[in-house]
Amino acid sequence: MAAKPGKMMITRTVVVMIIVILCLSIVSGASLVNIMIINGEKYQSKASEQQLYDSLVTAPRGDIYDRNMQILATSTTAWTVYITPNGIKKISDDAKREKVRTTIAKGLSEILEVDYQTVYDNTNKNSYYVIVKKKIDKASADKVRQFIKDNKDLEITKYIGLDQTTKRYYPNDSLASVVIGFVGADEQGLAGIESYYDAELTGIAGRVVAAKNAAGTDMPFTYEKVEEAQKGNSLVLTLDSYIQHTAEKYLQTAIEQNQIAERGAAVVMNVKTGAILAMAVKGDFNPNQPFVLSAEDQAKVDALEGEEKDKLKGELLNRQWRNKAVSDTYEPGSVFKVVTASIAIEENLINKNNSFYCNGRTTVAGQGYGCWKHGGHGTQNLGMAIANSCNPAFITIGQLIGVSTFSKYFKAFGFAEKTGIDLPGESRSTYHKEEKMGVVELASSSFGQTFNVTPVQLLSAISAAVNGGYLVQPHLLEKTVDENGKVVKTTTTSYKRQVISETTSATMRELMEYVSQNGAKNSLVPGYRIGAKTGTSQKVAKIQQTGDKYLYIGSCATVAPIDNPEIAVFVMLDEPKGSNYYGGVISAPVNSKIMADVLPYLGYEPSYTEEELKKLAIEVPDTTGLGIDDAKGKLTTAKLQYKIVGSGEKVIRQLPEAGNKIISGGVVILYTEQSENTTVTVPEFRGLTATEANTAAANAGVNIEFSGNTATGGLKAYNQSVAPGTSVEAGSIITVYFRDETTVD
Ligand SMILES: [Zn+2]
Repeated sequence: MAAKPGKMMITRTVVVMIIVILCLSIVSGASLVNIMIINGEKYQSKASEQQLYDSLVTAPRGDIYDRNMQILATSTTAWTVYITPNGIKKISDDAKREKVRTTIAKGLSEILEVDYQTVYDNTNKNSYYVIVKKKIDKASADKVRQFIKDNKDLEITKYIGLDQTTKRYYPNDSLASVVIGFVGADEQGLAGIESYYDAELTGIAGRVVAAKNAAGTDMPFTYEKVEEAQKGNSLVLTLDSYIQHTAEKYLQTAIEQNQIAERGAAVVMNVKTGAILAMAVKGDFNPNQPFVLSAEDQAKVDALEGEEKDKLKGELLNRQWRNKAVSDTYEPGSVFKVVTASIAIEENLINKNNSFYCNGRTTVAGQGYGCWKHGGHGTQNLGMAIANSCNPAFITIGQLIGVSTFSKYFKAFGFAEKTGIDLPGESRSTYHKEEKMGVVELASSSFGQTFNVTPVQLLSAISAAVNGGYLVQPHLLEKTVDENGKVVKTTTTSYKRQVISETTSATMRELMEYVSQNGAKNSLVPGYRIGAKTGTSQKVAKIQQTGDKYLYIGSCATVAPIDNPEIAVFVMLDEPKGSNYYGGVISAPVNSKIMADVLPYLGYEPSYTEEELKKLAIEVPDTTGLGIDDAKGKLTTAKLQYKIVGSGEKVIRQLPEAGNKIISGGVVILYTEQSENTTVTVPEFRGLTATEANTAAANAGVNIEFSGNTATGGLKAYNQSVAPGTSVEAGSIITVYFRDETTVD
């Protein structure tokens, strides 16, 4: 199905290899550069006894903040320990010189955890400056200073020095690591924002020029000139730590539950401004230790030897650093139907009242295409055709649009160019060029296959479809501030062009809401009206390469609030190996959970339907210590029921305990005197509808909490947190999981 899978894969492999080689050589090469150029003057052997000592003072790197000024990356003070062998060599007394060498080697090797022999050998090098260890923390630096004091009699202060420097520190460890990136040995940005904005973040190094004697010790009173180092500018990003954390948390859970083999990504973007609020990619890495692999990956590396081992390590490092949302392309599949529909509506080729007939198959120029529903969808209106994700209907729409118009809009929606997001390594899309596109390529393109785009490209296009038609510029930098907090540069919201009219966009919002209610039901968010489209695409190129037929990407895009969308969420899970691989089943619940946390956080008040209110989790109030009547009143007000155990007059204990959440109408057990716990048996909830589960819980004397999609009537529970038949205390809370598994895209 893909145009040139072989060529594409080769190109990608080559690119991956080049990136790994580049990154690795930047890391090692940079320290070479440092020694050869920056410090060159400093280490030259000098003929005279007195010399000018010219030392660079590292400028602190600018900090990186999220949009609420929470620190994402900062620099802390660190020290580099060095020795001056040429000074040691000048000690004329052989015994004393040997004593100095062994004392230094023993002391520094112990404090700094470096090899004794290496330090010992280095004390005899023909050099004024040999680094023992770079970037040690304050505690270790203090130990070195104490060691120097303790050995005053040997005057080792002449032969050991500490250069103050800085060390990059990421207080949140892996949070947003693929976006923020990391720095190399010399604090130069090597990936992510650290690399893209390296020039802004890097300060201007200061200089100390001082007279020194040949031993390399300062003679500050003779001559000294200081040029202050200038700290780099700090960056304030559009990322929001809370939203980022939320996206990462739910993405990670979905990756584990659905046995995702090739990582996943979740992006949250403001559809009106293009500001990225969260960009989550898992498995990622800890930027404090970017060269450390996950335990699982390290085990794979350890199982190999020699060249193969190094090669795999390079590949796995590159993989964990890689920003899947920006640097990888994929076939978007049915999520792209939003774009196809937008084009046809904008061109007045279809409207929402048109109907489309699907008998399960269609043919274009001799090429057959099946619908996932082999029996066909019959007659369906446009909304149903999208909600059903019916390929034959979209092939019909594609043919109505035609190659030339399709290509024109494909470009207008931004699929033929990079988005220009402020991150390194953005990938180019691959697609059928207009002159090489026939009706067959048009057919597959119209339902989102045989071309490759990046997730961030797709999210921008979906945003344009619902925000009034404007293709916005996705971006991560909100503003740049200098050392004194003065704003140096602010990102102004810009859009590239208007792709479709406000009217078409309004229709698309209507259609996407219809899809959320009639197709992508697992993406629904109680209390909110949203729009959605799911997709499940085959990884055609890899299937052809490996022969493995079951390689999919399940994805889902949602937008909210649907009347005037501000937030778009995109989730993709690459190569699910669990029981289900459809975007509507595995990815849509992640969209739902992210939206459910993010919308109230951003100030959008929920408005529940009667049906939703019944399933809403209510926080159990505290009734302990209250008289029976007061306790009853408090629970009734909270729309909860109660059951009293014992004949006392006060509540001495309750279950569930205060603060837990149970659904409206749940039962709180009130114990009024010391008594045996009442135990009950957990019933079988699997296969029950939400209403049936409620009744079963009440009959059994337990409480339930619903998880997942309960918006759809008639949906059956597929899992429960405690196995049926288990004895639990009366009133215990059992989580019951629902999801719509009838959706197949
Ligand atoms: Zn169909």
